[in-house]
Amino acid sequence: MVTKKTTKSGQVDLPEPVVDLEGMFFPPLNGETTGKIAEHYREIIRLLGEDPDRDDLRKTPARVADSLRFLTAGYYRNLDEVIGEGIFEDKCDEMILLRDIELYSLCEHHILPFFGKAHVAYIPNGKIIGLSKIPEIVDVFARRLQVQERLTNQIADTLMAVLKPKGVGVVIEAHHLCMMMRGIQKQNSKAITSAMRGGFKRYSKTRMEFLRLIELSNGSH
Ligand SMILES: [Zn+2]
Repeated sequence: MVTKKTTKSGQVDLPEPVVDLEGMFFPPLNGETTGKIAEHYREIIRLLGEDPDRDDLRKTPARVADSLRFLTAGYYRNLDEVIGEGIFEDKCDEMILLRDIELYSLCEHHILPFFGKAHVAYIPNGKIIGLSKIPEIVDVFARRLQVQERLTNQIADTLMAVLKPKGVGVVIEAHHLCMMMRGIQKQNSKAITSAMRGGFKRYSKTRMEFLRLIELSNGSH
């Protein structure tokens, strides 16, 4: 199955940092694909040593397939549509911060959840974005197979691309079930990633104000 994304201009393999404004197109979002995922899951259940025809398991493959489609729905969302009319002219030039945005994603190494909070700030430069759009942008990228570092960068790069602001700061703190349930089994460790752009990268004062507002500057960051 082709999984490469193409842009409107027909380019493939955008240079880093990639801002996927177009969304991805393959495979088609339809019942046939979901049915195939369910068939594979039936086989996985069998290979794990269970009986996929056991009464309580019979509907599980279809449920898992539906749930996976939901958890990876970000592949099918077009950022232009998500943002829509949500950008406005404004003279505000102070930091705008949305903190504690709930976040659920899937680690691409183990397809196990990682979850936590995203904090997103920017300093406008003539344009602001509707506050409700920021969690939607987070979800577009979180609902994919991800690594936390890339997710953090994609959110920052998207806001840089659509707002051309004076700067963007994104911090994500998350627990990874692949670390908690298996591997090193560290229940309380949290991974913290940050992406600083523009003034947030250049000026430590701006960065520190952001980190102070999200109360990480004296913590583990
Ligand atoms: Zn993992």
